[in-house]
Amino acid sequence: MSRQGTLGVAVIGTGRMGADHVRRINDVISGARVAAVVDIDAERVKALADSIEGCTAHTDPEAAMAAPEVDAVLIASPGPAHEAALLAAFRHDLPVLCEKPLTPDAASALRVLEAEQRLGHRRVQVGFMRRYDADYARLKRLLDAGAYGRTLMLHNKHRNADTPPGFSNAMVVNDSLVHEIDVTRWLLDTEITSVRMVRPAATSHAPEGLDDPQFALFETAAGQLVDTELFLNCGFGYQVSCEAVCERGTARIGDDHGVFVNSAGRWGGEIAPGFVERFEDAYDRQVQAWVDATRRGEVEGPGCWDGYAAAAVCEAGVRAQATGERVAVELIERPALYR
Ligand code: NAD
Repeated sequence: MSRQGTLGVAVIGTGRMGADHVRRINDVISGARVAAVVDIDAERVKALADSIEGCTAHTDPEAAMAAPEVDAVLIASPGPAHEAALLAAFRHDLPVLCEKPLTPDAASALRVLEAEQRLGHRRVQVGFMRRYDADYARLKRLLDAGAYGRTLMLHNKHRNADTPPGFSNAMVVNDSLVHEIDVTRWLLDTEITSVRMVRPAATSHAPEGLDDPQFALFETAAGQLVDTELFLNCGFGYQVSCEAVCERGTARIGDDHGVFVNSAGRWGGEIAPGFVERFEDAYDRQVQAWVDATRRGEVEGPGCWDGYAAAAVCEAGVRAQATGERVAVELIERPALYR
């Protein structure tokens, strides 16, 4: 490890998420520094590297991984570029934090899973950052403690003010619902076995070609039902919530995030404008946890199995959108490395 035990990180992809992670590593968290930045946009990456002391600029991820100051890799390029970057990191046996998705489909996720098994040890943490959100973590501890008995159902809501241009029905599953997929598997500690997608009356604010809202229904291996409202052009802000219904009580998070105000005969508060603001602390904690574990020589948090399982559920979800039917999720048997 370079410079008095500080982890030298190569950040691959310096767009919205990558640039934010660079800022986070430089200014917010401890124990790491940005040693290299990589982007196919040569001008952008050079300008960014020039603003960071001792940071080199690259257009080829593998060249950055070969640099002596690089101890670990944070992948924040678009999903289709993840597989190549992950396999390159494995060739250099470097620890990785990979933004979700691990890869965009189950077949490529399986190839990554198999490559990591050939290495013989886990190297990858996947960026399912909700696991590091204080509210979700509290709910997880509550459910694990078992004071309310078995969890029978989850009711999730996932609302965005609006969608960016080109946002498709498949992206509703792959980019939005994927977070509820991971949260469901993690909170309930089980696999999702089937998906149904239902379309209620459409909002007139949805762009042409996008069905909004949509409603997802999962069944789990333990027989629980999980529903998620996805309303991505709700207009009023970004809002996620999760209610667990257990045998002897319910527990809900996400309704009252932030400051509660009483004024002028009314009560209320603010709704986060987007996921960057809502999950700012979770992103910080996620990257700090990755750096801390990596410096200890350990791998924690969601890994390749979780990335693969999420990709398989997403594929079932996209098929369910097309057919309107209940679609079974197909998973390989969980390999020993991930048990
Ligand atoms: P973006 O388009 O803003 O940035 C992507 C960057 O990667 C661009 O600068 C692009 O030039 C660069 N790039 C493209 N191909 C590359 C390659 N082969 N090698 C290196 N760089 C390459 O995208 P974004 O919104 O920052 O998303 C990046 C990743 O983060 C995606 O995987 C996305 O799904 C994920 N994401 C996660 C969350 C979350 O909440 N965890 C939120 C948004 C995005």
